[in-house]
Amino acid sequence: DPHPAVRVASESDLAHWWHRPGPDDDKYTRGVVGVAAGSERYPGAAVLATGGALAGPAGYVRYAGAAGDYVRRSHPEVVCTPTVKEAGRVQAWLAGPGFGTDEAALGELRSVLVSPAPVVLDADALTLIGEYPSVLTQRDAPVVLTPHDREYERLYGSPPSEDRGAAAAALAKRLNCTVLLKGHHTVVAASDGTVWANPTGRPQLATAGSGDVLAGFMASLLASGMDGVRAAVAAAFLHGRAGGVAAREHRTVTASDLARALPAAVGEVL
Ligand code: AMP
Ligand code: MG
Repeated sequence: DPHPAVRVASESDLAHWWHRPGPDDDKYTRGVVGVAAGSERYPGAAVLATGGALAGPAGYVRYAGAAGDYVRRSHPEVVCTPTVKEAGRVQAWLAGPGFGTDEAALGELRSVLVSPAPVVLDADALTLIGEYPSVLTQRDAPVVLTPHDREYERLYGSPPSEDRGAAAAALAKRLNCTVLLKGHHTVVAASDGTVWANPTGRPQLATAGSGDVLAGFMASLLASGMDGVRAAVAAAFLHGRAGGVAAREHRTVTASDLARALPAAVGEVL
């Protein structure tokens, strides 16, 4: 059961945090989100993460990586380049899903982390920062880590304790990052120990690629100007709602269904 200090996100929190575009906005001022994900071996992660990013409030989605041909075919809106350095100006990055843990992936992760933009690190990026913790140091811009339990254990050295909020907060403090610990009871912890619990989780979210969609969507929220903790809380909330929307439409829910259902979930809240 949540500790009294744990906050539970609500629709009205999200409605307050959401950046609605104004008449003077253009695609750049709404935010440019960069997705460094996927590989020749795992092109699907790139398609799903960019799909999640397209569902968010940013005005422009760029993709950097080896799966550009797949991304373009699924999402003609996304501008693709082979590397992070060629991607140009980006307000927030997602790095990690499906991009591997080899030298090339580490180089791309370094390129993301030396940029002044806030970043979401997921999947293979979490493995890489476990092996090379020094890549995280000396960063001023926010970092949000999105481990599931096994990724948490690799990073922290032991599995999350029963008090998931305390577990997330311990990792957040140690690495001076925001931590979203995924699972049936998803929690978000800030590095100052503030903990949020997500009330919208549902088991249909447990499907391959689900986390890639969540991470891409979160990066779009960051690119739109939301801070790291709010972006993590809002993304988990709406990802859960998207699971509800998709479950009403389909017998089973796939990660692609989640990406397609996110705009309707946003519409329920705004
Ligand atoms: P990933 O393992 O990276 O694909 O992420 C899985 C996603 O599904 C995360 O958003 C988890 O919070 C969510 N998830 C996994 N298992 C459950 C569950 N039993 N109930 C609710 N959500 C879950
Ligand atoms: Mg994952």
